[in-house]
Amino acid sequence: MSAASSNSSRTAIVSGASRGIGRAIAVGLAGRGMGIAINYHANRSAAEEAAALVEQAGGRALLVQADVAQDEDRARLLQQTVAELGPVDLLVNNAGVAPKVRADLLEATPESFDAVLATNLKGPYFLSQIVARHMLEQPDRPNRSIVNIGSISAYAASINRGEYCVAKAGMAMMTALFATRLAEAGINVYEVRPGIIETDMTAAVKQKYDRLILEQGLTPIRRWGRPEDIARAVVAIAEGAFAYSTGEVINVDGGFHLHRL
Ligand code: NAP
Repeated sequence: MSAASSNSSRTAIVSGASRGIGRAIAVGLAGRGMGIAINYHANRSAAEEAAALVEQAGGRALLVQADVAQDEDRARLLQQTVAELGPVDLLVNNAGVAPKVRADLLEATPESFDAVLATNLKGPYFLSQIVARHMLEQPDRPNRSIVNIGSISAYAASINRGEYCVAKAGMAMMTALFATRLAEAGINVYEVRPGIIETDMTAAVKQKYDRLILEQGLTPIRRWGRPEDIARAVVAIAEGAFAYSTGEVINVDGGFHLHRL
């Protein structure tokens, strides 16, 4: 049986799958034959491009516009996915934003804090909650998991985007909490923790990181991360490669996390 046919009735929700890391994850999972709910927020044309790539790769694509920060939108994302693609086997909490303005810790506003926390922490937390309840209603499906796309910002202090760091640190605990709660039901929870990945999110700081990575060796592996690097880790999880691990952080960061002398 080919990988595609063995996965043909499996379904994933990938939040923020229109662009960047989420798109690569969607395409990677589609390559294993999964049906993919491609969630996006505002960029319909990018989401349509992602859907075309998912179908080329061998998966069914469902486009769902939903703001993960909104309660009703999260509920609708789950409902539409189940109605069109069937029970959910994998949730990838990928959607995320940087602060609109990189402001110093002593100047940053409560509005920016609320906006970043709503999308990057509250959204995935409560999306995990409703997807977990849904998964518990389908006890006989094998190999289900939730993957949170965290960040090295969970532990590396950037004083011009404190709200982003706080949200990603919160996501690390969220992974531990859901992993603990869901292990008995056979649902594993992981954090995949990217380093510095070339996407729209990092376009504004491209020159700075070209210098830091390529010239100064900020990452022991001297290159930018690519969305496909993250996607490969998520695909391995989806395939059950870490079946006896849960609550695990998988660093995909070119070795950034290593302490060096
Ligand atoms: P990106 O290129 O800016 O793409 C962000 C994606 O999230 C888009 O698909 C966007 O949808 C979606 N999104 C944003 N707000 C949303 C909302 N409220 N509801 C639903 N979807 C929303 O970002 P990326 O670099 O791929 O980052 C993806 C994830 O990886 C984020 O969680 C980010 O924090 C994390 N990460 C990135 C890096 C990096 O270096 N790039 C490093 C560590 C962690 P639209 O297209 O509709 O706007």
